Amino acid sequence: MLGRLARWLRALGYDTSYDESLADPVLVQQANAQQRVLLTRDRHLLRDLRPERALEIRHDDPLQQLHAVVTTLALAAPTDLFTRCLLCNAPLQELDPEQAQALLPAGMLGVPGPVRRCPQCGRSYWEGSHVRRMRAALERVLPAWVSNVESGTITQTKGRTPGLPG
Ligand SMILES: [Zn+2]
Repeated sequence: MLGRLARWLRALGYDTSYDESLADPVLVQQANAQQRVLLTRDRHLLRDLRPERALEIRHDDPLQQLHAVVTTLALAAPTDLFTRCLLCNAPLQELDPEQAQALLPAGMLGVPGPVRRCPQCGRSYWEGSHVRRMRAALERVLPAWVSNVESGTITQTKGRTPGLPG
């Protein structure tokens, strides 16, 4: 039931496996084999199956969960946001301007920042309203982090249309 947390972690670029269909023992086995930190709200799972690396999630709100994960595990701040597909966890490919124009809806010419595409599911990501809302939410919960990312992004997009929020 941590699907939204998984999406936030992916938005920050962390390799995040999420599969609701896995039975607990399989999940623990997979986490151990792949040396992942298992995030769970299930105390019984932690007590009975004893994953090698685990963190109990206590908050209900996905952004509070994210804050707890980032601070408890002392995760390094990413250099960029939205580099990984929120749905399937695959690293995104950056499109060249021609490919990007072909994908963007009409009226979205000259969006700031890169346009990226998931090689697995084909979903595209750019600085549209959804990404802006997620970025604004991240700024509230992890302000120092996102300001770092912002300055990185501004450098990267120097010379293009300004208009990144924040
Ligand atoms: Zn995808």
